Amino acid sequence: MSKVLIIGAGGVGTVVAHKCAINSSVFTEIMLASRTKSKCDKIAADIEEMHGVKIATAQVDADNVPELVNLIRSFGPKLVINVALPYQDLTIMDACLETGVHYLDTANYEPKDVAKFEYSWQWAYQDRFKEAGLMALLGCGFDPGVTQVYTAYAAKHHFDEMHYLDIVDCNAGDHGKAFATNFNPEINIREITQPGRYWENGEWVEIPPMSIHKPIEYPNIGPRESYVLYHEELESLVKNFPTLKRARFWMTFGQQYITHLQVLQNVGMTSIVPIQFQGQDIVPLEFLKAVLPAPDSLGENYTGETSIGCQIKGIKDGKEKTYYVWNNCSHAEAYKEVKSQAVSYTTGVPAMIGAMLMLTNEEWLKPGVFNVEELNPDPFMDLLNKHGLPWNEKVNVELPHEY
Ligand code: NDP
Repeated sequence: MSKVLIIGAGGVGTVVAHKCAINSSVFTEIMLASRTKSKCDKIAADIEEMHGVKIATAQVDADNVPELVNLIRSFGPKLVINVALPYQDLTIMDACLETGVHYLDTANYEPKDVAKFEYSWQWAYQDRFKEAGLMALLGCGFDPGVTQVYTAYAAKHHFDEMHYLDIVDCNAGDHGKAFATNFNPEINIREITQPGRYWENGEWVEIPPMSIHKPIEYPNIGPRESYVLYHEELESLVKNFPTLKRARFWMTFGQQYITHLQVLQNVGMTSIVPIQFQGQDIVPLEFLKAVLPAPDSLGENYTGETSIGCQIKGIKDGKEKTYYVWNNCSHAEAYKEVKSQAVSYTTGVPAMIGAMLMLTNEEWLKPGVFNVEELNPDPFMDLLNKHGLPWNEKVNVELPHEY
C-alpha cells in the first residue's frame, strides 16, 4: 500500500499522474499538488473519466518549506515525485527530510538567478538522506534518466570498458505552432542558450552555444541536424563510468526554431536579468514564457515522433564493439493514452517507473542520494517495455562516432 504525492501539474505532472493512476495497484493513493490547483483538478477529472481512478488534489507553493511540510504531514505519502521546476528541488528535499519521506525528481537544481546546471547542490544532501534512512533519486526522466539506465545496461551487459558515449536526442514532431518549447519554456531556453560542453580526455571542453552541429541519422526518421549541448546527465555519467574518454549530448533543432530563438536572443527576450517595466521589475525570459504556448497545450494535434538513445563504443573480450540503444515515441499515441505529447510522456513514464521500483523493489530503495545509473538497470529496462517506452538495440553497427 503506497501513497504518493506528485508536485507539479504541467506537461510532465500530467503524465506522471495518469501513469500512477493506471498502475493503482502499486500507487494505492495519489495526490497531485501544484501552485495552481485548478490545473490539478482538471487533470484529476480527466483521470477519473479515462481510467476510472480518483486522485486527490491540493494547492501548494513548493518554494515554501513549511507549506510543503504541512501538506506532506496531512497526506502522509511514502514518496514525493517532484515534477515542478528545478528551482523547487532543494525546498522539496528539505521538506522530505523533515517529514521522513523518500524523494524523486527529473531535473537537477538550478538557482533562479544563474542558469547553471550541476548536481553539487543536491549531492550535498547525501549524508542527511543517508542518516535519515531516506532515498533521493535524481534525474529520473528520459534525459536525464533513461539515458543513464541505457548506459548502465550497456556497461553491465555489453562492454568490459566503455570509451565513447554519444547521447542522441531527436524530436521529429510537428505541433503546428510557429515557436513553442516542448517542456517548460524558461528551463528549455536557459538550457540551450548556455555555452555547450562535452567531456574529453578527463576534462570539460566548452564551446559557444550551438556551435558544433552535424546531421545524425535517427531510426525511422532519417537524418536531422543535431547540436552539441551541455546536458546534466553527462556530469554523473563521467563520474560513474571513468573509462569514458569522450561523452557528448546531441539534440535536434529545426531551422525555424533556431531562427526564432536567435531573434528572441538578439532583442533581449531570453535574458534572466530583471529589467524595470512600468514601475516594476520583470525578467524578460519569464515574460516570454507567459506568452508562449504551454507545453501541456501542444499535445492535441502533434504528429511525428521522438527518438532518444545512446551510441556507445568500447571494448568487449579484447575486441572493439559498438552498441546503440534507443526508444522512438509517437506524439499522437502518447496523447491518446494520457493527453500529453511525447516529450512529456518520455519524461513522465520513467518518473513513474523509478517511483514504482522504489516502492516495490528492495534493491531500488537505499538510503542516500543517487543518480539513476548507480542502480541495477535490468528491472528498469523491463518496466520500460511494459509501460509504453519499448527500447531497441543494435550491436556492432557502424556508428557515426567521428561526427
Ligand atoms: P511545466 O512548466 O509544464 O510545469 C511545471 C509545473 O510546476 C506547473 O504546474 C507549475 O505550476 C508548477 N510549479 C512551478 N512553480 C511551482 C511552485 N513554486 N510550487 C508549486 N508548483 C509549482 O513544466 P514541465 O512539466 O514541462 O516540466 C516539469 C519538470 O520536468 C521540469 O523540472 C523540467 O525541467 C523537467 N523535465 C525533465 C526532462 C527529462 O527528460 N529529464 C524532460 C522534460 C522536462 P503553474 O501551473 O502554477 O505554473
